[in-house]
Amino acid sequence: MNGLVHKLKWRIYHFVHTNGVVADFVYWSAYHIQYWHRSFQHWWFTRHNLSAERIRPVRSLKASGVLMTGVTNICNAKCTFCAYPKVVENKTLQTGVMPFETFKKAVDEWAAAGGEIIDLTPVVGDPLVDPGVLDKVDYAVNRARIKTVALTTNAILLDRNDTYKKLIDLGIGCVFISTQGTSKAVYEKVYGVKKFDEAMSGIRHLLEYNHAKGEPAQIIIRFRNEERPSQIIRSREFVENIKPYLSEKVRVNFTVDFDNWGGTIQPKDISGTMKMRRLPSQLNVPCTGLFGFSVRHDGSVRLCGCRLTRTDLDDLVVGNIRKNTLAEISNGDEAWDIIKGFYAGKRPETCVGCTLYNPIDKAWLKSRSPGS
Ligand code: SF4
Ligand code: SF4
Repeated sequence: MNGLVHKLKWRIYHFVHTNGVVADFVYWSAYHIQYWHRSFQHWWFTRHNLSAERIRPVRSLKASGVLMTGVTNICNAKCTFCAYPKVVENKTLQTGVMPFETFKKAVDEWAAAGGEIIDLTPVVGDPLVDPGVLDKVDYAVNRARIKTVALTTNAILLDRNDTYKKLIDLGIGCVFISTQGTSKAVYEKVYGVKKFDEAMSGIRHLLEYNHAKGEPAQIIIRFRNEERPSQIIRSREFVENIKPYLSEKVRVNFTVDFDNWGGTIQPKDISGTMKMRRLPSQLNVPCTGLFGFSVRHDGSVRLCGCRLTRTDLDDLVVGNIRKNTLAEISNGDEAWDIIKGFYAGKRPETCVGCTLYNPIDKAWLKSRSPGS
């Protein structure tokens, strides 16, 4: 029965993402539905709050969760919807590459704790810029035996030295690709670099190779699209180089709305059909993002692996794995003080006005409980 439901869900998903008119309607509707859902969620929270006492026992790093190990915060693109080009221009981001030993320490601790998923993606930056990324993937997959090793890339460097082949051969579990769409001109405007051909070629080769090897890896292409989904779905690039490889493990999706990177991105930064995410007023309830831990290239451990405003060395940093273990840091007072601070209306700089804010709820609590 479960198998049938799964198949049906996949068929619906595939139908939506390969039919232009349907995809346009679904993504247009999703923008409004998500906003209503968040409004309702916020209203609900004003009445059914999870207290600090209830969440304290489940606040630490959970082995069934994801450990983010951002191997480098250097990027080879300058996307208009991302804080990266701004923080580089303003010189507020200190960039670097994670030494292998730092990565190994994080992975070894995570493996010893029974950690199942590791993601090499930084808050900003592309993991493939790290010249040692393949050694790190190899170590995490084949030495530390982490169940799923994942990364997100803009695909620009997938072709370099046959990286797409090596990732698959090493046993990477999941590759998320973040790209613009299938128009070269729009890509260059939104991604800020003339790398369309490289990115498309890398995606094509990765899909072909993964398919030829029997789909060992899950591949998700996330279009950060300026055009309507239908324009991408009808393009020659999509029809010839992406659609033939779509399956239950190889999927595409489009972007419903773009968040503001804590206020760094404004409506004037985006273009075309891109929409900024609207957010109902913020609540004195912690965000789910605070319960994810990300290791920066210098070993700093930061809450929330997904957003920054000026720098990733900000007031979300709660320790460093070169001094303490991940378990000590995740159970420490610094992390708890940030989480608890939300109840008193005190937020770290990046969280103030962040439109990715997602308050914890009972479903979240259940997912964090022992045995879930
Ligand atoms: S969105 Fe990703 S690829 Fe684009 S500039 Fe930011 S980090 Fe780089
Ligand atoms: S409010 Fe935004 S920056 Fe803060 S934890 Fe949530 S997602 Fe991350």
